[in-house]
Amino acid sequence: MKGVRLINAPKFIVDINVGKLVKWLRMMGYDTLLFNGGDDSNMIATALAEGRVILTRDTQIMKRRVIASGQLKAIFIRSDEPERQIQQIIDTLDLDCQFRPFAICLECNQPLLERSKQRVKDLVPPYVFQTQNQYMECPACHRIYWRGTHWQAMTKKLERYIRG
Ligand SMILES: [Zn+2]
Repeated sequence: MKGVRLINAPKFIVDINVGKLVKWLRMMGYDTLLFNGGDDSNMIATALAEGRVILTRDTQIMKRRVIASGQLKAIFIRSDEPERQIQQIIDTLDLDCQFRPFAICLECNQPLLERSKQRVKDLVPPYVFQTQNQYMECPACHRIYWRGTHWQAMTKKLERYIRG
């Protein structure tokens, strides 16, 4: 089975000053790039070329004509705290109905592929194999994902933000 991107969902490019948002957004299933510093013009060029929403705490970027005019969408993140930051994005873009966790690699932004239990037998710890039945694999870094306790904790938090 092929991995599937969300259709018509926003895509993001995240400024390094709010870099923790990358994992949260990928966790929710959104195609998200990290901009690793350097010239802001490069981030803006990528956002325009790929139709990505910019997330930043940099007021200078918000003043750029392409953003101030509304040609390119950018969200100025108000809080220092990652949890408040993700809440702001959920509220601003009204992300509730598109929440789709367990779809994108948290490390490299590739859509995950479903894998059978037998196929991952030698790739996951024995206690995981005994307790989990659903697995996903990243086609790029070959990391295996399952709905373990860390994943459950993150999902619970996200659900609370979305309902909140
Ligand atoms: Zn990966």
